[in-house]
Amino acid sequence: MIIHNKYLGLLGLAFFALIPILFNSCSDNKEKYNNKDKQKMEHIDYMKLAIEEATKGIEAHDGGPFGSVIVKDGKIVGRGHNCVLSHNDATAHGEVSAIRDAGKTLGTFDLSGCTIYTTGEPCHMCLCACMWANISKVYYGCTIEDNGRIGFRDDKFDKIFGGRDKLGDFMEEVGRKECLDLFDKYNASKHDTY
Ligand SMILES: [Zn+2]
Repeated sequence: MIIHNKYLGLLGLAFFALIPILFNSCSDNKEKYNNKDKQKMEHIDYMKLAIEEATKGIEAHDGGPFGSVIVKDGKIVGRGHNCVLSHNDATAHGEVSAIRDAGKTLGTFDLSGCTIYTTGEPCHMCLCACMWANISKVYYGCTIEDNGRIGFRDDKFDKIFGGRDKLGDFMEEVGRKECLDLFDKYNASKHDTY
């Protein structure tokens, strides 16, 4: 009986010692999954705002189906869409328009700590603009090849400049399916190619 109680005591101690380990382990996993889900949701939500911005541009016949939003500390600080046709400006890409808007909002060219969400993989002009603005991360929907399939010349310039493999994790794809739907909508609409 005495031995039995001793073992019971040890088992009890072991059980109580394990509780925090089990609890922490479970809550760690839960936290990781929550963060992962939350992050995924946030990325796709921001991309949907970029799609909304691009849709405005399609409906106004401003240019291609390219919209961008810039986010800092969870808040939208810049937005813009492609206005190449309506502004007669070859540099009025969605990313550049959003960078200009964010600069006005924040009162600085320095967009350190900002993330850009853009419906198409940026061309080299826009990539460099993001870098000059110190943007920390680029999320894009459709790829350079997708841009080519709806008539844009990104691939031509990409063959000249290349170097995307050197960018590491600076760029990441998110919401490609939703952005392909946007491209389909653009393709089905009346538009001028350029
Ligand atoms: Zn561009």
